[in-house]
Amino acid sequence: MGKKSRMFEFVDQTWNPIGARCPFQCVYCWAQSANGLINRYKLKKYFGKPVLYEKTLNQKFKDGETVFVGDMTDIFAPNVPDTMILRVLYTIKKWPETTFLLLTKNPLRYKQIRSEYGDLPKNILLGATIESNRNYPNISRAPSQEERLRVLADLSFYYPDIRLFVSIEPILDFDLDTFTEILKHIAPYAVAVGYNNYGNKLPEPPLEKTEALIKNLEYFTPFVYRKTIRRAWNE
Ligand code: SF4
Repeated sequence: MGKKSRMFEFVDQTWNPIGARCPFQCVYCWAQSANGLINRYKLKKYFGKPVLYEKTLNQKFKDGETVFVGDMTDIFAPNVPDTMILRVLYTIKKWPETTFLLLTKNPLRYKQIRSEYGDLPKNILLGATIESNRNYPNISRAPSQEERLRVLADLSFYYPDIRLFVSIEPILDFDLDTFTEILKHIAPYAVAVGYNNYGNKLPEPPLEKTEALIKNLEYFTPFVYRKTIRRAWNE
């Protein structure tokens, strides 16, 4: 059995079938940043090119549990070959009573995989981390927040049967009305909101603004998870 997730309370275990250096290099990443787990513990699995760990595809999952797929690297980043992602999705299909949470900063890959290879498994929560409606190119090399929001809106429109998940963590300063409206349009099944846990001194929104966003989200989102909610470091 994989380890309990450190990220989401509703997740029962994590599963890391693919190891790779993440090309996005977010400055706050708890795994891949300069002070992250990978460097601290010299975790070879995540230093190089993507590798699919065949043995992990034989892992057994329980009915009713939720499994977070890939909490150490972004398995939908451009450096991960389609063949590896498809093997992971094929394994997910074999466990229809288990829910698998996918999370990426490159949701365009979901669209591409779906249009090139057909339906995604029904038992997934299709997630994207989107920290704000504003773009922060100095914080990460991932596709911009604006692009991620646009792609999620497309997915929501074209595939209304897919359950979408948005992780607004670590939250970065945003425009309340704009961010609310876009998220309302995306209509995610679940959202998690939280501040950075690692003292990175990010451009954080004031607490009052974050509370206002959470309140708005609670009007139209079935599940809103409060993660680390606190005052901004500079408040
Ligand atoms: S995309 Fe995710 S795994 Fe990759 S560096 Fe950013 S936070 Fe880490």
